[in-house]
Amino acid sequence: MYKTHVCGELGTIHVGQPVTLAGWVHRRRDHGGVTFIDLRDRFGIVQIVTNPETSPEAHAAMIDVRNEWVIQVEGLVRRRPEGMENPSMSTGEVEVEVQKMHVLNMAKTPPFMINKEEDVDEATRLHYRYLDLRRDRMRNNLVMRHRAVKFIRDYLDQRGFVEIETPILFKTTPEGARDYLVPSRVYPGEFYALPQSPQQLKQMLMVAGIERYFQIARCFRDEDQRVDRQPEFTQLDLEMSFVYREDVMAIAEDLFTKLVAEIVPQKRLFASPFPRLTYREAMDRFGKDNPDLRFGMELKDITDLAGSSGFQVFETTAASGGHVRGVNAKGLGNYSRKQIDELTDFVKSFGAKGLAYLAITSEGEQRSTFAKFLPEDVSRKLIERFEAQPGDLLLFVADKPAIVFESLGRLRVFLAERLGLADPDVLAFCWIIDFPFVNWNEEERRWDPSHHLFTAPMPEDIPLLDIDPSKARGQQYDLVLNNYEVGGGSIRIHDRNLQEKVFKLIGLDPDVARERFGHMLEAFEYGTPPHGGIAPGIDRLCMIFAGERNIREVIAFPKNQAARDLMAGAPSPAEVIQLKELHIKLDL
Ligand code: ASP
Repeated sequence: MYKTHVCGELGTIHVGQPVTLAGWVHRRRDHGGVTFIDLRDRFGIVQIVTNPETSPEAHAAMIDVRNEWVIQVEGLVRRRPEGMENPSMSTGEVEVEVQKMHVLNMAKTPPFMINKEEDVDEATRLHYRYLDLRRDRMRNNLVMRHRAVKFIRDYLDQRGFVEIETPILFKTTPEGARDYLVPSRVYPGEFYALPQSPQQLKQMLMVAGIERYFQIARCFRDEDQRVDRQPEFTQLDLEMSFVYREDVMAIAEDLFTKLVAEIVPQKRLFASPFPRLTYREAMDRFGKDNPDLRFGMELKDITDLAGSSGFQVFETTAASGGHVRGVNAKGLGNYSRKQIDELTDFVKSFGAKGLAYLAITSEGEQRSTFAKFLPEDVSRKLIERFEAQPGDLLLFVADKPAIVFESLGRLRVFLAERLGLADPDVLAFCWIIDFPFVNWNEEERRWDPSHHLFTAPMPEDIPLLDIDPSKARGQQYDLVLNNYEVGGGSIRIHDRNLQEKVFKLIGLDPDVARERFGHMLEAFEYGTPPHGGIAPGIDRLCMIFAGERNIREVIAFPKNQAARDLMAGAPSPAEVIQLKELHIKLDL
């Protein structure tokens, strides 16, 4: 046997027992002629020590070993001498007196410390990911993720869901990103597309009568990277037949409530049941449809006051159909001009032309971009609307609605972070509902689905698709957690005519629609049940559960921010012969 016990399990009940252990040298210390080693395996750490008199060979070998060598030891568990216990280690009351030691493998000095949490450049961590994953924090993240996924599987299994794998080599499944294409060798000039999600396939499973499906599914989207994006990521993909949106939301809410209690019991839910906000309300109050509810500083609309503010920027914006909105950054009334300039630069990076302010110093004095123009009654109304007090700083953006929401919504989050307003131990789930069914894409001059092509409009809004599509709402629901969208879903279209109508509305050429989605249209003619589902992102959820700021921290082998695998070096050029077989000529 390589090992009779794991390092982390040893305790006083094992005292006197012979054990064989195997693992990595976590740390070694020499103390007055005695060498101590902390031996580590996946399950924990135990101290081992040699006695130069009784085991001279093992003792000599101990002196040579270095951090991260892989060794096997045979020895006896004993109580540590009085006063030498280490209460911060689960095995801290015992140690193993080694009689024999075998070096199983030596190790070069690692490029960073495994036995200590230190800041290491991410590129180095990703290059040596196998070493990075030896560190406590990363191992804990992987184990937590495993437990979360196992909980989800068990939960759904108990409720009649069937886990079904769907193909990775498929046809375009659009979710608003570019496809990754795989050239077919057998059919020159033809390509598979990697699924952006199993959306169509899970709908097909509903047509197939499965009724309750799920999958821990890998999705592929070729889009620009952001902190919470990866070219491939994992979703809990779920679909149910004969359901209303309430049914899907109820099961997801119950699943996540129980998941939190099981996996991160140290965290608290902000509210249960999860609050529900309409898309409009989320935008008006928070400037974004993935709001963080853990703190206030809500946006307030002052477009009605802007016209009589005496401030030209506000007045012209209001007169031209724009919005003027603001937030109260409580306690920042003494911010200097320079500090406010920094906030101005921040909103400018989201398209705002500027940031107007009204600061009320702790002495109650007003400083402002526009106070000198401001009539007394408007000033009073402003103060009332923001419930401003001495020491507060009111910040305003006047612009097109989209820019006002984007810049102020982000400013709110930025300030909350700076002021430490969001409790890291609170999980604020909420639902966003009543999304617009389509959004106008000015660049392409067409309607884009706000969710995806297969989402059903609200039944009562179907007539609006012909009259004013901008007013129609979709049967979409998003699950949001602390400033992140962690899952989106919808009730689907299950009627061929309506699906064709939606394809037409979003400007999909009928021939292209038939080529890409003909199988769905055809399937809809063979008794398709009403159905709907949702797909929460496993990486984002685990990132938030683990208190990490980046999904790469909960993925064993992620790509870097530039979509590269730094360990293996992917992507990489293909062999000429491979390209030839695939009938590909490079045009670089
Ligand atoms: N397929 C959707 C997505 O990936 C989720 C869903 O509608 O179930 O966002």
